Amino acid sequence: MSRCPVCHGSGWAIRYNEKNKQDESEPCECRRERDERDAFRTKLVKACIPPEYWEYTLENYLTLPLGDSIVNKANALSVYELRKYMTDPLLFLNSYNVLWIWGRKPNAGHTSLAVIFAVELLKNKYKVRFMRMQDLISAFTDFESKKDFFTYLEKFDVYLLDDAFDANRCIVPGDYTNIHLFNWMSTAMSNKKHFICTSKVDIAQVSDKFEQSKHLLLKSRLSLEFNGTLKRD
Ligand SMILES: [Zn+2]
Repeated sequence: MSRCPVCHGSGWAIRYNEKNKQDESEPCECRRERDERDAFRTKLVKACIPPEYWEYTLENYLTLPLGDSIVNKANALSVYELRKYMTDPLLFLNSYNVLWIWGRKPNAGHTSLAVIFAVELLKNKYKVRFMRMQDLISAFTDFESKKDFFTYLEKFDVYLLDDAFDANRCIVPGDYTNIHLFNWMSTAMSNKKHFICTSKVDIAQVSDKFEQSKHLLLKSRLSLEFNGTLKRD
């Protein structure tokens, strides 16, 4: 990174004060920008968003070759919708409980897209918590920390569930966990919490092992399909 031409990296800008007839130092503009950047990083850490997704933007996504033009065309409507709700997150929050980002190909960037939306919510002061589905499922039977964990989760407004309800990517919970999972989601939704989910299938195709939760998800969701395979190299 190049050094700031004003303060030369010290963080203090020297300005001559006409009235007092002397040099005075004040926090440099670059320092304010750095502080803001650091504060936002803290938010990303609190949201538990894996660092490899931090810098990713919708513009990055759009420049990546996804396979062919047919795929890009098919994705265009989903991109349009996502951008609309990124511009006005309240429009999404007031209309839906769930944003379901899905597509059959494993490397279509679903998690990246979910994080892009989540970051926009963070910028708008909503508190987001990223979770892998397996971690959420395991939390219900981690009896030692269960109470604290779910109390802590209440502080968040939006939960991002990666590989949500994917029976192939998590240990399918038994009846006990399933009931608690459903109850937790149901309570969260009635408390105006929102969910961003990534998946390989649309909600209707989610395994019946998650039947109760599935019906809950179907009630008020925006489902966006993204296909193609990201070639990052
Ligand atoms: Zn500076």
